[in-house]
Amino acid sequence: MADIDWKNLGFKYMDTNCHIEYVWRDGKWSAGELVKEPFLKMHIAATCLHYGQEAFEGMKAFRCKDGVIRIFRPHENAGRMHRTALRTCMAPVPEDMFVDAVKRVVKANEEFVPPYGTGGSLYIRPLLVGTGPQIGVAPASEYTFLVLVMPAGEYYKGGLKPVRSIIIDEFDRAAPNGMGDVKVGGNYAASIFAHEKAKAAGYPVELYMDAKTHTLVEEFATSNFLGIKPDGTYVTPNSHSVLPSVTNNTLMQLAKDHGHKVEVRPVPFEELETFSEVAACGTAVVVTPVYEITRGDKVIKISDPDKCGPITQKLFDGVQDIQYGRVPDTHGWCVAI
Ligand SMILES: *Cc1c(COP(=O)(O)O)cnc(C)c1O
Repeated sequence: MADIDWKNLGFKYMDTNCHIEYVWRDGKWSAGELVKEPFLKMHIAATCLHYGQEAFEGMKAFRCKDGVIRIFRPHENAGRMHRTALRTCMAPVPEDMFVDAVKRVVKANEEFVPPYGTGGSLYIRPLLVGTGPQIGVAPASEYTFLVLVMPAGEYYKGGLKPVRSIIIDEFDRAAPNGMGDVKVGGNYAASIFAHEKAKAAGYPVELYMDAKTHTLVEEFATSNFLGIKPDGTYVTPNSHSVLPSVTNNTLMQLAKDHGHKVEVRPVPFEELETFSEVAACGTAVVVTPVYEITRGDKVIKISDPDKCGPITQKLFDGVQDIQYGRVPDTHGWCVAI
């Protein structure tokens, strides 16, 4: 075990033993090697630096109750990065190579996977970038795929904590036929200014409407939107500019397993006040309960500011029980290293 204060880890970069690196050249991928130095030496005309040929992913590995380290749904992330690569004209990473890379780098950093019971996990960050030189706008002739890992601490130490949210009408994060449905760094560059403003005003998560009409709910800046109706129905927006979240997909399946109705459809702004629970969802924290949503002068009260709603809580517990191996993995989501 690495000498780490597991209880106070937070979510910040930390050096580990190594990352894994592959290069695509002359139409094929290299075998991949574990690299100790956390630096990438690249050409100053690399397309990722100039024209944003960049895709990333985020997932986690857990040290389970039985001591085995398991990665949560890596094939889903592999598929999503494949779609992002095609959309940005980058060399796609084959699914088997992606999952193998993740397993190899997790294994090489086993001692950085937090012990069972600390609530921590190993955060896994795959990255695909155009590294070939290209000043005229065109796809690069060379790509680098790497996977880095870092230990991440338990986010909700005192239980799930509801937050306030604000709707952003001044900016959009993704155009209707833009790149909102793929995981590129550019979407984050587009949202970071509004995020800093919202955070400074006391809103940790900001909500985006559809860019064309600003009448339909899309998603939070870095996580999907889910709403629960008083009858327990799980509602999440469908839109071409929402990123298909693995966490949202997981929660929808668990909601169905728990006997809830699940609806994936347009969610008009006016519907917000009809939800009894709202949450943001994504890999980093699974869910962030939202108790109130502000838009201009209007404040929509959703739920108790001091307590997570019961259905959100149950879904959160359900995901964590599977991730930490406390209940049978009936959907076959966990991959042992
Ligand atoms: C990564 C991401 C999410 C969450 O996806 P998960 O697969 O659940 O981690 C949601 N929205 C955006 C915009 C994202 O980039």
